[in-house]
Amino acid sequence: MKKLIIIKYGELTTKKDNINFFISTLKENIKNMLNGMSANITYDKGRMFIDAEESEYENILNKLKKVFGIHEITLGYELENNDLEFIKETLKALIVDEEFTSFKVETKRSDKTYPINSMEISRILGGVVLKNKEGVHVDVHNPEVIIDVEIRNKHSYIYFERIPGIGGYPVGSLGKGLLMLSGGIDSPVAGYLAMKRGVRIEGLYFESPPHTSEAAKNKVITLAKTLSDYSCYIKLHVINFTKIQETILKECPHEYLITIMRRMMYRIAERVADCQNCKVLINGESIGQVASQTLTSMSAINEVVRMPVIRPVACLDKIDIIDIAKKIETYETSILPFEDCCTIFVPDHPVINPDRKLCEEYESLFDYESLIDEAIKNATVIKVENKISEEHNNVL
Ligand code: ATP
Ligand code: MG
Repeated sequence: MKKLIIIKYGELTTKKDNINFFISTLKENIKNMLNGMSANITYDKGRMFIDAEESEYENILNKLKKVFGIHEITLGYELENNDLEFIKETLKALIVDEEFTSFKVETKRSDKTYPINSMEISRILGGVVLKNKEGVHVDVHNPEVIIDVEIRNKHSYIYFERIPGIGGYPVGSLGKGLLMLSGGIDSPVAGYLAMKRGVRIEGLYFESPPHTSEAAKNKVITLAKTLSDYSCYIKLHVINFTKIQETILKECPHEYLITIMRRMMYRIAERVADCQNCKVLINGESIGQVASQTLTSMSAINEVVRMPVIRPVACLDKIDIIDIAKKIETYETSILPFEDCCTIFVPDHPVINPDRKLCEEYESLFDYESLIDEAIKNATVIKVENKISEEHNNVL
């Protein structure tokens, strides 16, 4: 008998056509997350098994709690065979160290040729527990402990402990998206929710030195690092936006600054996304939150790109976004008081219902295409991982 970690992937098992792709992506992600630990991962019909040194279990469990695509994690025992007498003897030994007064046994047979059905096995094993542990009783509705027994082709499994996984789809199984990552509360939450649906994200941050500081950029790197706990690593593209912003400020009516600035951000984001094989843009816009997030504004901004824009927090109340930010531990970083390029040029009265024709007219006052080309040419990228960050120039 050996102790191991068993992973169940729930929702994935409904993906009939490409289940193997989902599972191999999940396995790859787990392998990358456990990089550096001596863990052996195998899988068999709806389950993944991790065999490791017992001293590593706690570390491994903490990592697995942040892997999308996992429905449940259990610490269980693998028995050498599926012989009922052997299971009975093993169970007898295992319950000695378990503390409970009420219990029920649940059995699953993935080996349908097994001569006894699941109900009958549960009944027999329940009898073994009652006979061998003093003061316990069966409670089928609200037991203190559920003793799970799984009968498989070669082995059988017994487990007492279950930890909920975070669900979703394995990161990368649905392709890649480019997350517009600011230092605020909303965009990291948007990134987390997109990753949960299986999207691998790359980040894009617009900085405006000297109007924005190195500390503001470091805050975004910290946010990317926190998000990388869920995906192992995140590539963060940094665009110097100063010249574009200063030109808009000089050339355009001030109530249109934000709208035009955001149209430029979208144009750049789409170009970066195309280069990186990202299929969608993702951002933290939320309907009605600020002037640039009215439906008319969103539509005037959105029209400059053809790529779909996913807004995972569009319909959430701020308080719900904050709850998620706290849960995923980005909140404390997000509320640090560093300036963002959106906040430094805020006009007193930004337009709430921008006119598309006027946007085009104001944009024709300067050669934004060459400014965008230059910004993209000078982009830098930082590979943000759980452990280390490396910075490179001109990799687009
Ligand atoms: P957040 O809390 O995420 O900063 P916000 O409520 O402050 O959002 P805006 O500043 O209007 O709203 O930005 C809306 C979205 O645009 C952000 O959620 C983010 O996705 C993107 N964005 C804004 N500023 C930047 C930036 N400097 N770099 C990259 N993306 C940005
Ligand atoms: Mg912001």
